[in-house]
Amino acid sequence: MGEREPRRTPIFFMSVIIFMLIMSLAALLLAIEAYLVQGKLEIINIILSASALFLATYMFIQIRRRSISLGFETLKVSTIIQCLKCDYRNVREFEKGDYILRDAGSCPKCGGTLIIHSIFRESKEKD
Ligand SMILES: [Zn+2]
Repeated sequence: MGEREPRRTPIFFMSVIIFMLIMSLAALLLAIEAYLVQGKLEIINIILSASALFLATYMFIQIRRRSISLGFETLKVSTIIQCLKCDYRNVREFEKGDYILRDAGSCPKCGGTLIIHSIFRESKEKD
């Protein structure tokens, strides 16, 4: 069973990309302005800023897409209930207030005490 931490969009990474986007856009505008006003065609500047802009936009879209798809990834938390007397075992969905070793009623098989044996989280992902 592979248990993983849910991926979150790192805010720092996101702000670096947005900063890059703004800077490359500014550089591109400056290069265009230099061409229009002074008649200087700074090909290298234009290519560099355009590719940086493209890269930043691409990364931005990738991150957005990933964080959107994350929202649909359901994290299911399950609770395992076990009987203290017999081998009865049941897995049900986690309910608020569940904690390990908590009394969970009586066993349907032998009438013994049921306790919460463990609580685990499983992430369901499409392969
Ligand atoms: Zn039992």
